[in-house]
Amino acid sequence: MRILVTGGAGFIGSHIVDLFIAAGHHVAVVDNLHTGKLSNLNPQAVFYQVDIRDPEALAEVFRREQPEIISHQAALADVRGSLQDPATYAQVNIVGSIHLLELARQHGVRKFIYASTGGAVYGEPEFLPVTEDHPINPLDPYGASKHAVEHYLFLYRHNYGLDYVSLRYPNVYGPRQDPMGEAGVVAIFTGRMLAGQPCTINGDGQQQRDFTYVADIARANLLAAERGSGIYNIGSGIGTDVNTIFALLKEAAGYTLPPVYGPPKLGEVRRTYLDATKAQRELGWQPEVPVAEGLRRTVEYFRSLS
Ligand code: NAD
Repeated sequence: MRILVTGGAGFIGSHIVDLFIAAGHHVAVVDNLHTGKLSNLNPQAVFYQVDIRDPEALAEVFRREQPEIISHQAALADVRGSLQDPATYAQVNIVGSIHLLELARQHGVRKFIYASTGGAVYGEPEFLPVTEDHPINPLDPYGASKHAVEHYLFLYRHNYGLDYVSLRYPNVYGPRQDPMGEAGVVAIFTGRMLAGQPCTINGDGQQQRDFTYVADIARANLLAAERGSGIYNIGSGIGTDVNTIFALLKEAAGYTLPPVYGPPKLGEVRRTYLDATKAQRELGWQPEVPVAEGLRRTVEYFRSLS
């Protein structure tokens, strides 16, 4: 199949590109390299350095590539950055996605896979694990912008028959992770531990997140190209606290310093993890890499860079 991955030079997108290529598909990548890196890019992918806010440049990519599937990963993805510049987040994350949906409709794209976020659309959970029908109350412009696109996905399917899968990702970690991303704590701690520097835990470290290894996220995209329609939580259904992440990374990295406890981050959700039984039932997806193993692989990756 002919697949277009936006954000394919980024952390998650580059793993998706690798997996689609390994499965024998033709892959084109659109990325403006805002946080993405050419070094992440699979050499077998056709690369277009294009900003998704530029509809003419995107139209040219669609004319040349005629994609059957879009895996849309490109976004501004820093929660704190979104509080400082909400309008730019809306332009990239909402308007950029609308440009892609318009072109997908015009070119008869078969399916639109969208990277949504289970960490940021639900807000403070009313129950755990969070299911897809949990109330939507994003607490920052990033979450609001990511969720807004799900309305457009729904109406493009309703009005034009453009099928979609929206994957609400958990806290994704692994090789190529950027310390600024949603699960940045893993990349930050790993980098500091390998450099022998102290690590600061915000608050008491008992805040829980659904940490899921990036290869499992890429596999959800591969499955979504073939099956499913609508919105799916992706995650382990297990909350892992930051103290545990610190301890597991410490062991994997052979680090000896104790953690430094700092003030808690303002507005941070205390506990969240996602119920992915719908994805298991309809996509045949479940996570395969346990956190301890995923963190070991992540440490090995960052060690190999230094
Ligand atoms: P990332 O920053 O590594 O990837 C985003 C990519 O999009 C980068 O390569 C960047 O250069 C590109 N990009 C940004 N603005 C662009 C623009 N205007 N035009 C073209 N390309 C642009 O972040 P990631 O963690 O790999 O995130 C990938 C997707 O997954 C995002 O949509 C994000 O919202 C979503 N997500 C990530 C997590 C997580 O834990 N990392 C959790 C939930 C959802």
